[in-house]
Amino acid sequence: MKKLSDIPRIPLALLPTPLYRLDNISALLRTNVYIKRDDMTGISLGGNKVRKLEYLLYDARAQGADYVLTTGGAQSNHAMLTAACANKLGMHAILVLKKRGVWEKKGNQILNDLLGADVRFVDTDDYADIYAMMDEICKDLASQGHKGYRIPVGGSVALGSLGYVRCVSEIAAQAEQLKLRFDHIVCATGSGGTHAGTALGARLYMQDCKVTGVMVDDDPFDKIVPDLMRKTAALLDYDEPILDTDVNLVNMVGPGYAKPSPEGDAAIRTLAQAEGLILDPVYTGKTFAGLLAMASSGAFKSDDNVLFLHSGGAGGLFAIL
Ligand SMILES: *Cc1c(COP(=O)(O)O)cnc(C)c1O
Repeated sequence: MKKLSDIPRIPLALLPTPLYRLDNISALLRTNVYIKRDDMTGISLGGNKVRKLEYLLYDARAQGADYVLTTGGAQSNHAMLTAACANKLGMHAILVLKKRGVWEKKGNQILNDLLGADVRFVDTDDYADIYAMMDEICKDLASQGHKGYRIPVGGSVALGSLGYVRCVSEIAAQAEQLKLRFDHIVCATGSGGTHAGTALGARLYMQDCKVTGVMVDDDPFDKIVPDLMRKTAALLDYDEPILDTDVNLVNMVGPGYAKPSPEGDAAIRTLAQAEGLILDPVYTGKTFAGLLAMASSGAFKSDDNVLFLHSGGAGGLFAIL
């Protein structure tokens, strides 16, 4: 097997992100709940995509790209963070976004504007249309002597998922400093890369820890996540079998992707009022609702150590339908 450190990346995030115990939530749920503050990755308003972009943008540069193209919904945190990281590296970002949800100048669209990103909306529900448009843009760029690098939605390809394998190695080191072992990690499953990387990372560095992904979208993650785990494992020449049944999912999508749910909204208020920490309605609020639902169904023992991954999303808080 390869060492993770053998795969090159560009440092972009401020690491390690903080990890500490949530005393009030722990008392409320009668177990030990910790938080990993990946909302504090240190670029723009922070968030999980920065770790993925460390690998993806290294690859972009290695291929000689000066433009980076990516996609998502109108309020995509991933697209916004891609623009922010591209700026830091002196690259240009073109964001080809679905014209769905809040596409007016609110939330992440304010940030995209400040960042100077080239935002192009496509009126479609199908990513195939978006990727076709990205191909066209890359052809135009090439005819002008530039090179575009395409990042699929969420950066959820094997290379991007390595960012979360690396995050778990960071968590393992922090757990050792705190002299504890984590029994559970709970993270969001939005396009699957964070979950896949975290689950593979747990296999490598924290074997006794169970990773649960909380679905905030309806895609078939029971296939997508193990598939992405296998592709990510292949980059490391890790060849132990990864079965579809190894992946744990809880569904908290509610009325739909990027549509606030009553459980998610209640969970946001619970964490804000117990700990003074802010979640978002699209990803982390629903994910924390998943953790609360697991706690009330008896998934955690009183002496368990449970880690909640705060993956960011602050920009979306100001663009709620
Ligand atoms: C993208 C995103 C997620 C989900 O991560 P995936 O790797 O796409 O599953 C979770 N939280 C926030 C804030 C995000 O922007």
